[in-house]
Parts: sequence; structure tokens; C-alpha cells
Amino acid sequence: MHILHPGDPGYDDERSGFQTGLRHEPQVVFVVETAHDVEKAVEYAETNGLPYEVQATGHGLTTPTTGVLISTRRMNAVHVDPDRRTATVEAGAVWQQVIDAAAPHGLAPLSGDAAGVGVVGYTLGGGYGLLAREFGLAADRVLGTTEVGDVVTTMEFELLPVNRVHSGEMYFDATHAEAVFDAFHGWDLPDHVTPQLATIAFPDLPMLPPPLRGRNTVRITFASTRPFDVEGLKVAPRLTEDFGVKPFHKALGAQLPPHTYQGDNVLLGELPAETLHSVRVKAATADVPIFLGLLPLGAGIGGPASHLLKLISPRLGAERAHAEVFDLVRPFVVGRSRNFRFAVR
Ligand SMILES: Cc1cc2nc3c(=O)[nH]c(=O)nc-3n(C[C@H](O)[C@H](O)[C@H](O)COP(=O)(O)OP(=O)(O)OC[C@H]3O[C@@H](n4cnc5c(N)ncnc54)[C@H](O)[C@@H]3O)c2cc1C
Repeated sequence: MHILHPGDPGYDDERSGFQTGLRHEPQVVFVVETAHDVEKAVEYAETNGLPYEVQATGHGLTTPTTGVLISTRRMNAVHVDPDRRTATVEAGAVWQQVIDAAAPHGLAPLSGDAAGVGVVGYTLGGGYGLLAREFGLAADRVLGTTEVGDVVTTMEFELLPVNRVHSGEMYFDATHAEAVFDAFHGWDLPDHVTPQLATIAFPDLPMLPPPLRGRNTVRITFASTRPFDVEGLKVAPRLTEDFGVKPFHKALGAQLPPHTYQGDNVLLGELPAETLHSVRVKAATADVPIFLGLLPLGAGIGGPASHLLKLISPRLGAERAHAEVFDLVRPFVVGRSRNFRFAVR
């Protein structure tokens, strides 16, 4: 185990993560490798009356700590038991490791489409995955954890016998947003399909596919282990589309590099079509870029919530603009997911 203080070589690297807009400001970083190291870190924090926080990847950084940071990225063993169809991971493991270890056995976890996200942080927040409506939340599949203080040191969970998924995505120019949102909202969505509707503005960068470069777009993604029909969603020309039966890992999204972002979400008990339109227009015309994501729940997940609405901006300081959009759905709010809160207090 290493212990780092401000000014020590490695201190800045260790407190940095996927979120580049802010970083923890700890008095001390415990770079843990074993549960015993975590015990020492927690004991140190408690003895000195300091708060402590865990960082695995930094994808979910909300409030930076000024106390003790327990950095788990080197404590990341993954073990798959193909007979029991389970995985056991240490605190700092990421989904890519589980996907890689499970795939040779025809198994897959309930990960999302970003394989660099930490398994434990994601699962503690529920874990809305690529196949959520078909198999439930990642948290529903947890078999056990070991803990030291508030730190989960290992987590065991079920894997699913999934090696191929029917998945796809369609991009539309944002000028067709109204028709696409209408079709998505009115879609007779089968319980076994997990879709997501999102607005995305692409910068004009050469590494992007020409049809998307520099464009404001609306994207629909979907996944299921069974076939399904999306013809009813093709209400406008597609800039690009991609469907197929793919190995689970090929259905994941491209890995994004670390960047600055701020975001929040609400869980909604209902979402009338006219409210969704107001939300879309408000987000599209805000004075900061806001990308909207809509995740239908139901199918046994979400409890009283029918949708999760998330807003993300590629910069900090977007709270006011987000609040103005969330105000439009206030009468329908039944909760909030811990997982889609980024750089907000
Ligand atoms: C690009 C991107 C894609 C995402 N996709 C999805 C998705 O598809 N579905 C979904 O549900 N969520 C998704 N999320 C949200 C993500 O699941 C949460 O942000 C989660 O908290 C990230 O965990 P982490 O360990 O990677 O991040 P970190 O920032 O390292 O940790 C976040 C928080 O998790 C807690 N935590 C982490 N490890 C431990 C531990 N061992 N013990 C106790 N607490 C711990 C701590 O409170 C910590 O502050 C996504 C986030 C991003 C940025």
C-alpha cells in the first residue's frame, strides 16, 4: 500500500479519474491493494476524525472529499465461477474485466454500455444495464459483499447465460426530433427490450463518422436477447443505423476518454407526451449544451417510476440550466437515481 500526501509524486495521478472537471482534494490518499489496507485507511480516518471517500474510476464523482481518499484501482481482482455462474470482484474492478472473464464461458454481467465504469460503484447505485428491462438491475443479482466500514471490499453477483444480443442504434438529425420523440414515446415497447433515447451534439472532429460530424442528433439504442421490431421508430431518415446479433461485448458503446461533465437525473411516475416535448425544447434551447437521456423503466424495474430522465452537459456550471428543465417534470418526480449524478452536490 502507498500513502500519499499533497505534493508527493503520484498524488495528483491517484486522485484524478474519469471526471476531469473536478478532483478529490484529500489530506491523504491510501492506495489500497488488500482488505487489510482498507482497514488501515478507515481506522486512520476514524482515529483522526476525518471523512473518507472511495474512488475506483472517478466516473461517479459528485462531491470531492477533503479528508481521506481510499483509491481502489489497484485492488481489482476478478474471479468467474462458470459452474455457479457467478463473479466475485474486488473493490476497484471495472466491467471490462468481468466481461472479458465471463465471455469465454458464454456468460455476461448486467453491465451498462460503458465498460470502464467500476462494478461496485455502479451496482451500489442500482445499475441500469444494457439488458435491464429483460433481467433487472445489477443490484438485484448481488449474492453477497464483504465490507470494511462503508467500503465494499468484495462483491459477488450472478452472471447471465448471455453471449449474443440483438442490438442496434439509429441516429436522426435533430430537425426530426419532434417526430422521433413522438414515435419513441408512443412505441408499444416489449418488456424484453431495453432502449434509450438521447440527444447528442457531435463536435466537428475528423475521427467522427462523416454523417454525424458537427451535427445535432437524436439517437435511439436498444438491446435484447430476443428479436424485436423497430420499424415503427423509423419515422425520419437515419443519418446512420446499425442492427445485428452481436456478441455481448460488441453491443457496448465506444470507450470515451476522460472528460468534464455535469449531470443529474429524476425518476418519473409518468411522462405525458406534451411534457416530454417541453423538456426536449427547453434542453435544446438552453444557454449551455444539454444532452438529454430517457430510459424507460417498467418491466419489473423502477418501482413506481416509468422513466428515468437524465441531463448531461459537457462542462461544469450547468446546474441552473438543468434545474429549469427539471422544473418542467416536477409534478411527476418520484425519486432520483444515485448513479446518474455527476459533479453535483
Ligand atoms: C460514461 C458513463 C456511463 C455510465 N453508464 C451507466 C449505465 O449504463 N448504467 C448505470 O446504472 N450507471 C451508469 N453510469 C453511472 C455509474 O454507474 C456511476 O457513476 C458509478 O458511481 C460509477 O462508479 P465508479 O466506481 O466507476 O466511479 P467512482 O467515481 O470511482 O465511484 C463513485 C462512487 O461510488 C461509490 N463507490 C465506489 N466504489 C465503492 C466501494 N468499493 N465501496 C463503497 N462505495 C464505493 C463511492 O461513493 C464513490 O464516490 C455511467 C457513468 C458514466 C460517467
